[in-house]
Amino acid sequence: MFDTLEEHVRQRVAPASLRAEFRQHEFVAMRPFCRLVFSVSILIWLVFDLIVSFLGGQGFTWLSCLFIALLCGLTVILHFTWRSQHFDVLNLLFIAVITLGMRLVIEGIPVALRPVWLVLGVSTVLYALSLLPVRRWSFFCAMLTTWAMLNPFYHTRITLAQLEGAMLVSYAVFLSALVSYSYLQMRRAKLHNFYFSKVLLDQAYVDALTEIPNRRAFMTQAERRLRSAIPGQYLAMIDIDNFKRVNDRFGHDVGDEVLKRVAQQIRAGVGGNAFGRLGGEEFAIFYEGLEQGAAEQHVAALCQRVREDPGQPPVTISIGLAPVLGDESLSTALVRADQALYEAKRSGKDRFALWRPEQ
Ligand code: GH3
Ligand code: MG
Ligand code: MG
Repeated sequence: MFDTLEEHVRQRVAPASLRAEFRQHEFVAMRPFCRLVFSVSILIWLVFDLIVSFLGGQGFTWLSCLFIALLCGLTVILHFTWRSQHFDVLNLLFIAVITLGMRLVIEGIPVALRPVWLVLGVSTVLYALSLLPVRRWSFFCAMLTTWAMLNPFYHTRITLAQLEGAMLVSYAVFLSALVSYSYLQMRRAKLHNFYFSKVLLDQAYVDALTEIPNRRAFMTQAERRLRSAIPGQYLAMIDIDNFKRVNDRFGHDVGDEVLKRVAQQIRAGVGGNAFGRLGGEEFAIFYEGLEQGAAEQHVAALCQRVREDPGQPPVTISIGLAPVLGDESLSTALVRADQALYEAKRSGKDRFALWRPEQ
């Protein structure tokens, strides 16, 4: 069972659109962490630069100012970056600048100490990189840039022919492979996690038959909108007329098709308002920002669209419309809309009725 599900997930997570959605979601969730990594990196670089510059008797040079300005500039840009593909480029730029800065600082220390600090620098940058929400091309370009900038064979006394050189190459290959593996595995695990959550949330909040929001989704959304207290809120409760007869005459499958048709008609005319299937053949819409006349027009138009739908068998709906008053709960509004619905049924069906205080 689990194997079948996992196989299904593996096939479904491949679409490019899902991956793009995942990357964007991941970047937005990790933006604060990215900012933290950028800021801490700058701070550490600055401390090293100050130590090396002052020990070397140079003080704070214009080059240090330039690097600080560049790195801080990139961090400020990150503050205004909201698209994951922009971060792929921005992070690459940041790594190019900071590794160049690191190389310049390390050039200031005795030549014998350089390889250790270069390898330490590469290890730190690569580890941080493996945690960031970047695409594969950006990750591997950044890795190459890091090795190129902090190449431990450049301007040091180590050569490939020495034993030390061979050890360094082995370490570089092992480190790069390990970091790439953990980056790729983590991305894959996160993508699967994202897809699983999406499927579970869909199942929890979307009605399986009609594919519109279910009762739980509608109640959550309507509650939220009720609290927002935008004036002109109305609750419409919709019920298909004589639906039992449709089931009895044409069978349950045809009844299901009718439910889908009515759900599509509701979806088509609902605009940005919350709506959903409450259960059985009952639906609801939570309108806001409407005058009473406009709310009445909306529900009358919905009755007309369902009545004139060319699908077979033809059906009609009745709607109970209740104003939602500022300090009242959603359940009060639902009771009122239900009372109005009863009135619409009682007075002949295929119509709407507005709740009145005398009800
Ligand atoms: P009224 O005009 O007064 O609303 O009459 P009605 O026949 O629509 O009302 P009633 O509540 O008696 O019937 C609702 C029927 O809806 C009963 C139930 O079998 C059917 N039903 C509920 N859920 C589903 C479903 O998911 N699919 C199908 N095909 N039928 C459903
Ligand atoms: Mg009913
Ligand atoms: Mg009914």
